[in-house]
Amino acid sequence: VTLREVWRQGTEFLRRAGVKTPALDAEVLLRHLTGQSREEFYRDLPLPWLQDSDLRWREMLNRRASGTPVAYITGEKEFYGLTFQVTPAVLVPRPETEILVQRALELFQEKRLPPNAWVLDIGTGSGAIAVTLAVNLPKIQVTATDISVDALAVARANARRHQVQARLHFETGDLWPPEGSAPADGLKFNLVVSNPPYIEAEQIAQLSPEVRHEPTLALDGGPDGLSVYRRLISGLKKYMLPQGWVLLEVGADQADHVSELLAAAGFKVLPPVLDLAGYPRVVQAKEG
Ligand code: SAM
Ligand code: GLN
Repeated sequence: VTLREVWRQGTEFLRRAGVKTPALDAEVLLRHLTGQSREEFYRDLPLPWLQDSDLRWREMLNRRASGTPVAYITGEKEFYGLTFQVTPAVLVPRPETEILVQRALELFQEKRLPPNAWVLDIGTGSGAIAVTLAVNLPKIQVTATDISVDALAVARANARRHQVQARLHFETGDLWPPEGSAPADGLKFNLVVSNPPYIEAEQIAQLSPEVRHEPTLALDGGPDGLSVYRRLISGLKKYMLPQGWVLLEVGADQADHVSELLAAAGFKVLPPVLDLAGYPRVVQAKEG
C-alpha cells in the first residue's frame, strides 16, 4: 500500500465522519506520524507505507473523527509563524488573534509605544499572544496571567521553546497579576492585551464538536458573552501607564458593546480593526 492510498483512505474516513477539511487533516496527521515536511510528503506519495505505524494512525483518525481538534492530536499549532505546544488545557490559537498581534506590532513600529514597554496579557492560555510579542519585540517585558494553572504550564513551555522566558512573567490570577509581582513599581503597563472568553454561555453547547473539546473556561463569557469584558474594563485604569494602549479581541457582534464599556470607563476609543471576514475583531483604546 502506498502513502497516497493511506492518505486517500484516511481522507475518506474523516469525510464520512463529517470532518470539514478531511484531506488537509489527514495530511497533517500523517505528517505528524512520519515527521515528513510538506515537500517530503508529496515527494513520497508513491512509496510504500510503513505498516508498523498503522495502529497509531487508526487511533489518530478515530480521535479526529470524534471531533478532537487536529492540534490536540499533534500537540502543536502554528501561530504567527511560530509553533506552539497545545494541550486540552488551552484554547487552540486562532488566526483572528493574529490580527491583535499584528496591530500591537504596528503600534510599536509607529512609535506609539516605547521599545522597552511593559505589556500585560490577560488570559494568556497557550501564551500565543505574549510569546509572539516577546519574540518580535526584543526589549519588551510581558506579564501574562491566567486563572488556569494547567494553561500557564503550557504557556511557560512555549516561552522556553521560543527562548523568551527571561522577559515573560507568568502569574496565576483572576484577570489581574497579584500585588507585588513584576513590574514591581506600581504594577502598571504601557499595553494591555486580551482575548478573553466571549461566547454566550448558552451558545457553547451548539458550537462545533472541535470547539466543545476546548476548555469551557476559555470560552464562557457568561449569559451575554460580555461578563469578562465588564470586569476587565472596570478594573483596567489602575493598571495603565500614561499614554497606554488597550487591545481586546471581541466576538463578531461585540465591538460596539465593548467600545461603549471602554468609553464609559474613561478611555479614548478608536475604530476597531477588521478581520479577514470583515468583522470588527480587535477593539482599540487609549488611556486618557
Ligand atoms: N490568549 C490565548 C489565545 O488568544 O489563544 C487564550 C485565550 S482563551 C479565549 C481565554 C483564556 O482566559 C483561557 O486560557 C482561560 O483559562 C483564561 N481565563 C478565563 N477566565 C479567566 C480569569 N477570570 N482570569 C484570568 N484568566 C482567565
Ligand atoms: N474564537 C473562539 C471561537 O469562536 C472563541 C474564543 C474566545 O472566547 N475568546 O470559537
